[in-house]
Amino acid sequence: MDQKKKILIVEDEKELMKLITFHLVTSGYDVLSADDGLEALEISEAKPDLIILDILLSGLDGWEVCRRIRQNPRTKNIPVIMLTALAEVKDKLKGFELGADDYVTKPFSPRELLVRIKRVLLRAENKTSSCHQIVKVGSLEIDGAEFTVKREGQEVALTEKEKGILRFLLNNRGVVLSHNDILDAVWGQDNIVEYGNIDVHIRHLREKIEKNPESPQLITTVKGKGFKLEC
Ligand code: CA
Repeated sequence: MDQKKKILIVEDEKELMKLITFHLVTSGYDVLSADDGLEALEISEAKPDLIILDILLSGLDGWEVCRRIRQNPRTKNIPVIMLTALAEVKDKLKGFELGADDYVTKPFSPRELLVRIKRVLLRAENKTSSCHQIVKVGSLEIDGAEFTVKREGQEVALTEKEKGILRFLLNNRGVVLSHNDILDAVWGQDNIVEYGNIDVHIRHLREKIEKNPESPQLITTVKGKGFKLEC
């Protein structure tokens, strides 16, 4: 099991802070908390895995906190989910412009928040964990830094989505990943894609990397569960 993910909650409403903390802790996360913007910036230096950031705070507001988090080299890659009662589209756009990864509008269900957290964490992991080394899987050679793929010495041209799927499978080698997991990690917010499309991408990927795509040895199907990259 992975080490617990650490999440910083920045929220000045005590009851809401308690509620979110409760749900995160029972879902297996470690929680840090801040109730104003400056404290949030200070604690974000400890590099939590994700920040849940309320917009209406006393002192520095969430917009400014988000801007400063993105400006600081130590914290610029930490995923941020903005939390607010401001539901207008222009506010969402402002959040994304400032580098927020997702946006949750109050009132929200804890379940919705948890789903978004999981999705943002998966996506962040997939972005950052490509290793700077050559990985061999069967007759495949994957250069983790450039993410170029060679099969029996020949470079294989992959689309961005195929690379994303392969990277996610590689980062979770030997683990069965469901359609939903793949959707969250590779498509993230733009997941207006039907489950069937994932099968199509996997089929294309197999045609490019498997000796016999009809009987795949690298990306195998686990019936009713998903796919995995064999160790
Ligand atoms: Ca607030």
